[in-house]
Amino acid sequence: MSERDAAERSSDTVFGAIVRGEIPADVVYEDDLCIAFRDLNPQAPVHVLVIPRIGLSGLQEAERAEPGLLGHLMQAAKKVADLEQLDDGWRLVINVGAAAGQTVAHLHLHVLGGRRLAWPPG
Ligand code: 5GP
Repeated sequence: MSERDAAERSSDTVFGAIVRGEIPADVVYEDDLCIAFRDLNPQAPVHVLVIPRIGLSGLQEAERAEPGLLGHLMQAAKKVADLEQLDDGWRLVINVGAAAGQTVAHLHLHVLGGRRLAWPPG
């Protein structure tokens, strides 16, 4: 699949619609490469999703990402943690594939915090 095909496929998801501004989201941070917004069904007091503006269906397509994009997303997640004052600790989660719980085929990083987080995860 070409990068363009991947972009078009994942722009069909609800997150593609959020990137395009077609459906609303509670945005907490954005820049030229990514958007971070609150999860509709939060699993912790702070639950923010960081997504690239470009469509990538998930980390399955990591090789197709522009150099630096994945690192940029992690730095954006850290900015979100700072903005949300998660000074006691926070967790970054990327579900890759259906067996891991991925339900939206547009790469997204979960920033979770505001409560004690158990390990190992379920
Ligand atoms: P996944 O299960 O794919 O790792 O995570 C997808 C996340 O997207 C879920 O936590 C789900 O609650 C969230 N989500 C699904 N649809 C929407 C939506 O339309 N808006 C927002 N803000 N979050 C959504």
